[in-house]
Amino acid sequence: MKYDVVIIGAGPGGIFSAWELMKKAPDLKIAVFESGNPLEKRKCPIDGEKVTSCIRCPSCAIMNGFGGAGAFSDGKYNITNDFGGTLYEYIGRAKALELMHYVDDINMAHGGRGTKMYSTAGSEFKKVCIQNKLKLLNASVRHLGTDINYIVLGNLYNEMKDHMDFYFRTPVDHIRKTENGYEIICGDQVTECDKCIVSVGRSGSKWMEKICQEMDIPTHSNRVDLGVRVELPAVVFQHITDRLYEGKIVYTTEKFEDSVRTFCMNPNGIVVNENTNGIVTVNGHSFEDAAKKTENTNFALLVSKHFSEPFHDSNGYGESIARLSNMLGGGVIVQRFGDLERGRRSTPARIERGSVRPTLNATPGDLSLVLPKRILDGIIEMIYALDKIAPGTANFDTLLYGVEVKFYNMEVVLNSRLENEKYPGMFIIGDGSGVTHSLSHASASGVYVADLIVEEHA
Ligand SMILES: Cc1cc2nc3c(=O)[nH]c(=O)nc-3n(C[C@H](O)[C@H](O)[C@H](O)COP(=O)(O)OP(=O)(O)OC[C@H]3O[C@@H](n4cnc5c(N)ncnc54)[C@H](O)[C@@H]3O)c2cc1C
Repeated sequence: MKYDVVIIGAGPGGIFSAWELMKKAPDLKIAVFESGNPLEKRKCPIDGEKVTSCIRCPSCAIMNGFGGAGAFSDGKYNITNDFGGTLYEYIGRAKALELMHYVDDINMAHGGRGTKMYSTAGSEFKKVCIQNKLKLLNASVRHLGTDINYIVLGNLYNEMKDHMDFYFRTPVDHIRKTENGYEIICGDQVTECDKCIVSVGRSGSKWMEKICQEMDIPTHSNRVDLGVRVELPAVVFQHITDRLYEGKIVYTTEKFEDSVRTFCMNPNGIVVNENTNGIVTVNGHSFEDAAKKTENTNFALLVSKHFSEPFHDSNGYGESIARLSNMLGGGVIVQRFGDLERGRRSTPARIERGSVRPTLNATPGDLSLVLPKRILDGIIEMIYALDKIAPGTANFDTLLYGVEVKFYNMEVVLNSRLENEKYPGMFIIGDGSGVTHSLSHASASGVYVADLIVEEHA
């Protein structure tokens, strides 16, 4: 088989590359290889009754398949250079923002119209944060919600499926450079292409590392974010979430001067398991549909850990801590903030007595046996700082789920075209490249490289 362009991975990065190529160079022959299932076949077996926790499927329906890790995400497209990745370092701030808005327009044209765009610009809330030693980051946030996000993905797929070949349940094993292009190898099937776009996301991080070793592409890695997911009554944060949807707030701890930040805030949402390479961690999302809203809001509190030489395996460090929580709790652990403060574990009876109803069935336990002291101290300090702007955050019954880990893919050494100098025509984009960590940045990187291919094709 021979294609002009092969795209590896059908997450937001791969999808927006494919969509852009189809629109701007319809004569190009394109194939998309995806290790997971088509959108409609993606189904996590956790039903809350027969299956109550993660059974570690070989291909995680939450992380893999058409839509990538973004398919069941909250669909929050943060249009900003302040967080979500460092795409702007490669392509410039203005271009990065332009492409994020472009992606937003495509989402609006495919079922997103009517969803709300929030903005921190000019918010009086900024001042309140500063007065309490907190910093509110700048962003416009389009909240599609898990349900509308799913509809948008379905519409994009329907528009693309007759214009290119999708190969689902087809993990790519290797990429080989040929004289004029690349060979994409899946088992004993070899596909030739002139150009390839590699967009394998976080779930493909180990695979990406292997490819970089095989092809001798340099990488670096030194960061992991560790913390907990906080769940509390939605009314506590309502004055913030009604205005901003998601407040990205950063706090510098007094004790260690570590940076702790809120991440992925889900008003009236649910807390969920996430399975990355067999390790169960915690995440969250929420629905746009009023019928699916809960009484709780959840968000992560993450402490960034940067390592210096000679340590290289920041993800390994995060994995070990997540494994510890899996070892003690069989998966994710939940603890009331008050129990943590008192130095005792939460039990099923204590959680039951609490006023916050957990939306995830996690094992009551003790997070102080899992998280390093420095990280836990930072989280506790931030909870008290947040309590000043959202009184009730530091309540006894506030639930903490652990651990939440943001693994950063090692960063592939790339030029301003998102290619490694040694391999022209092989673009490495999205979260798998280490350049992006979000829907909007991953999608924008997909459009960016597709436009480069279109320019050269013209
Ligand atoms: C529960 C959850 C909620 C989230 N909420 C948000 C949010 O609200 N806002 C936000 O900005 N971000 C959110 N994120 C993060 C966001 O989903 C990712 O940043 C985004 O999906 C990255 O896009 P990507 O295309 O780079 O990678 P992915 O979406 O991870 O897609 C990569 C695809 O490549 C496939 N793949 C991997 N290896 C191979 C291989 N060897 N061969 C073939 N295919 C392969 C995978 O199966 C996957 O489908 C959330 C993530 C999760 C898990």
